Amino acid sequence: MLLNPFILEKAIAASLQNIPKNLGEKLRKRHRNAINKASHRLVENPFINYENGKMLILSDTRTDKGEAKFYETTRKACRLIEPGNFLCHAFWEGYPCWHRATLEIVENYLLIEQELNQHSSGKSVAGVDTLLLPA
Ligand SMILES: [Zn+2]
Repeated sequence: MLLNPFILEKAIAASLQNIPKNLGEKLRKRHRNAINKASHRLVENPFINYENGKMLILSDTRTDKGEAKFYETTRKACRLIEPGNFLCHAFWEGYPCWHRATLEIVENYLLIEQELNQHSSGKSVAGVDTLLLPA
């Protein structure tokens, strides 16, 4: 499914605002960079595979053999799962990565979308997790 650019813009802004204020300037900058990269990737490639807090992300790099790389990202961890099974390098070093920034933007997107739906229809939305799965 295609992301609605209006909601995506709001979700990106919310993610930028959520960067903890008590971090040092260098770390805040890493967070901003991760969110910026995630937002560019979401515009270029709005293919979302998200379910129950778990997201599959196609990397923007390939292996030495030219294979596509997939990351599995949750709030708690980020790992390269295909090929292999390794922790994401940035995550392992304790830094923000654009994979988890993508997850955060998409979760904010779902919240905003749910709020908008509740306002317009007056009823709650069931099964938000399934809304963005490819048909
Ligand atoms: Zn990562």
